[in-house]
Amino acid sequence: MKNSVLAWLEHTAKAMPDKVAICDERGSITYGEYRNKSLAIARQIISVKREMGMELKSPVVVYLEKGLEVLVSFMGVAYSGGFYSPIDVDMPESRIDKILEILQPSVVITTKELKSRFEELSFQGNYLIYEEIESETCDEAVVSPVTEGIIDTDLLYVLFTSGSTGVPKGVSINHRSVIDYIDWVTETFEISSEDKFGNQAPFYFDNSILDIYSCMKTGATLYIIPKKLFFQAVLLLNYIKDNGINTIFWVPSALIVVSKLKAFRNVDLTGTLKRVLFCGEVMPNKQLNIWRKYLPDVVYANLYGPTEITDACTYYIVDREFSDEEPLPIGIPMKNTEILVLNEKDELVKEDEVGELCVRGTSLSMGYYNNPEKTREAFVQNPLNKAVPEIIYRTGDLVKYNEFGEIIYLSRKDFQIKHLGHRIELGEIETAVSSLEEVTLCCCLYNEKRQEIVLFLDSDLSREFIRERISELVPDYMIPGKVKYLADMPINANGKIDRVKLKEML
Ligand code: AMP
Repeated sequence: MKNSVLAWLEHTAKAMPDKVAICDERGSITYGEYRNKSLAIARQIISVKREMGMELKSPVVVYLEKGLEVLVSFMGVAYSGGFYSPIDVDMPESRIDKILEILQPSVVITTKELKSRFEELSFQGNYLIYEEIESETCDEAVVSPVTEGIIDTDLLYVLFTSGSTGVPKGVSINHRSVIDYIDWVTETFEISSEDKFGNQAPFYFDNSILDIYSCMKTGATLYIIPKKLFFQAVLLLNYIKDNGINTIFWVPSALIVVSKLKAFRNVDLTGTLKRVLFCGEVMPNKQLNIWRKYLPDVVYANLYGPTEITDACTYYIVDREFSDEEPLPIGIPMKNTEILVLNEKDELVKEDEVGELCVRGTSLSMGYYNNPEKTREAFVQNPLNKAVPEIIYRTGDLVKYNEFGEIIYLSRKDFQIKHLGHRIELGEIETAVSSLEEVTLCCCLYNEKRQEIVLFLDSDLSREFIRERISELVPDYMIPGKVKYLADMPINANGKIDRVKLKEML
C-alpha cells in the first residue's frame, strides 16, 4: 500500500475517521466513510472486470456531475488497482466518443440519469451506477490483495487535454508522480489537518490534484465550491468566510473575478484566508496587487506547469513588491525536479537568452495514452545526456531567467492558448470549423488583450450558425467569440495561411 496514494487515505481514515473529508453543495463525508465507500466501489469494479475477463489495471471512466461522489469513485478505482479518467458531463458527445476510442475503458461509473447519454455513444463496456454501488458494504478480503499489488509506476489517472489535430491527448500519470508532488506541496506550505481547502478546479483539470491529495494526505477538509459562485464574487467570498476556508488554489481567471468586481470592499477575509496559490495561466500583477492590498498577510504563490508534469514544476512564493506592469516570476524548480531551458540548438540558455522550458524528474507523465506519435514529439531524450536513456518533457513554453535567477514566462512556441483558464489548441477549433461543408479555409487566433478567440473565415456564415454546428464537436469554451470574414485569406510564401498578416487584423 505504501507504493500508492491510497496509503494516505488508509492512514487518515484510521487516524481521524470522523473528521469531515469533503463537503459539497449536497452534503459531506468523513474520512472513515470516504475510505469505506471507495472500498465498496473497488469491490464492484473488481467483480465486473473479473467477470468480463478484463485486466484489473484497465481504465475506468468517471462520468458524474462535480461533487464528492467523483472523488469517492476515483479512490474506488485506485483501490481496485486500475486508473481513472474523468469526463466532463458538459463535453459534446462526439468528443467523448474520441476519448472512449483512445481509452477503450472496460467500466464507466455514472448515475442512472447520466447513463442514457452514454448509451448513444460507442461504449461497449459495463456501467456501474453510483447510487447502487456506494451503499454496498466493503469486502476488504477481496480488495486488499489487489491494492497491495499496486506498484508506484502504475497509472493513477489519465486526464485529457486539447489536441491540435482535433483528437484529445490523454496525459497518463502514475502514483509515484503524485506522491512526489504532494509531498512537496504539503511540506512547502505546511498543510495540516486544521486546514480547509476551497476547491475551484474541475476534477478533469490537473489543478485539482493539489486539492484532492493534499487534503487526503494531511486530513484537511476539502470544500467543493459551487460553480455558480464563481460568477458572484461577493457570495463567493462569503462562502469562504462562512466555512472558514483558509487555503485556495485557483486559476488566475477565478482570482481575477474577485479583484475585478471589487468584492473585497464588501467582505473582509482578514484572518480567514492564509494561503492563495494559483497556477494554469499568467497571473497579472495588476490583479494580484489588489488581492495583496486587501489581504497583505496571506502567502501568495505562483505555481507553473502543464498537466504532463503532474500539475506544477516551478513555483514562486511572492516575497517582494511588483508594479502592475511587471511580470510575476514562475520562479524556481520544485524539489526533485530539474528545469532545463534550452535554446534552438538544444543547449542551455545563457544570461538573457530565451529558451524552451523542459522538465526532468519523477513528475513526468508516462506519455499520452495510446498515442505513441504525440508522446514521441513531446517526451524526448535529454539532449544533454548522451550516456543513458533519459526522458525530458518539452513544454512548448518560452521563458528566460531574470536577475534573481527566477524563471519568467514569456509566451508559447505553438498555437496552444489559455482562455479563461482552459487549455486549448487553436488547431482543435480549426479542425471542427473545417469539417463544416460550407467552409474552405479558416484560421483561429487569440486576442490576448480582449481575451477572445477570433475565427477568420472565407465564407460568410453567421457566428450563431457556427456556434450551433461546432458545439456538437468542441466544448463551449472553445467557441470563437468573434468571426471575421475575408473574401481572400492571406497566404504566405510557403502557401500556408499567413498568420502574421491575420494577427495584424485582430
Ligand atoms: P495545463 O496543462 O492545463 O495545466 O496547461 C499548461 C500550460 O498553461 C503551460 O504549458 C503554460 O503555457 C500555462 N501555464 C501554467 N501555469 C502558468 C503560470 N503560472 N504562468 C503562466 N502560464 C502558465
